[in-house]
Amino acid sequence: KSTARFERRPDTGVNFKDIAGIDEAKAEFEEIVSFLKEPEKYTVVGAKIPKGILLVGPPGTGKTLLAKAIANEADVPFFSVAGSEFVEMFIGIGAARVRDLFQKASENAPCIVFIDEIDAVGRERGAGVGGGNDEREQTLNQLLTEMDGFKENKGVIVVGATNRVDILDAALLRPGRFDRQVTVNLPDRLGRIGILKVHAKNKPLGDDVSLVQLANRTPGFSGADLANLLNEAAILATRYKKETISKNEVNQAIDRIIGGIAGTPLEDG
Ligand code: ATP
Repeated sequence: KSTARFERRPDTGVNFKDIAGIDEAKAEFEEIVSFLKEPEKYTVVGAKIPKGILLVGPPGTGKTLLAKAIANEADVPFFSVAGSEFVEMFIGIGAARVRDLFQKASENAPCIVFIDEIDAVGRERGAGVGGGNDEREQTLNQLLTEMDGFKENKGVIVVGATNRVDILDAALLRPGRFDRQVTVNLPDRLGRIGILKVHAKNKPLGDDVSLVQLANRTPGFSGADLANLLNEAAILATRYKKETISKNEVNQAIDRIIGGIAGTPLEDG
């Protein structure tokens, strides 16, 4: 028997105001909240609520945050699973887990089902070494079947996330499945300022720290990198027994994170 390990989190604790720098994606998701809250507004004019939305973008840009925020803002249950959790060694287990997940979702509709790293299960069929992997293909087929099986306007919205849309099986992207794609890019300078503001909210910054300057110095940083940067700086300030976070801690944190982004340091030169 399969033991589905998806989580149901009624309160994700994430609101749209906690998300910055990705305004277009956020606007799309705000519309989804309105679908969930007032479906009649859409169905009365014959509009179908999307069943599946695919979030595409690099790691740490806020894809998970967006999915959590719609659940919270629309006040509906949130089921979350990583695609890799469907990929099993034993034939049939992955497919059974997919079935369980959608069973639970339809019992709890309206709700959000979030599948992170959907490429783990959604890779193009027959593309594996040796012409494919039966177990994974069965799992993917089950996912396609489930998405076809539930009706639009029932209120189960599946949000998938990936940074490899290029390797996904085309069948996943057909109408009635993940027919909406939302791209989430690395934040630009203004986006970085916005994200830094969100994460600086509960952190006492010294007068010598300017978030604008910090945004200028961090091109290429994702939202996760920026959150991490301020957190590292706060940890350093605690270590130095300071009550505010000064430029010194921020600079050290930037160095650490740039080191991390550039990859692990070379050993013995
Ligand atoms: P992955 O592809 O690695 O799963 P992701 O795109 O789902 O990444 P999240 O898990 O949403 O990234 O982001 C990780 C953390 O980084 C968040 O919990 C948040 O603290 C911060 N963060 C990322 N993007 C943003 C953003 N746009 N606004 C505010 N905070 C952000």
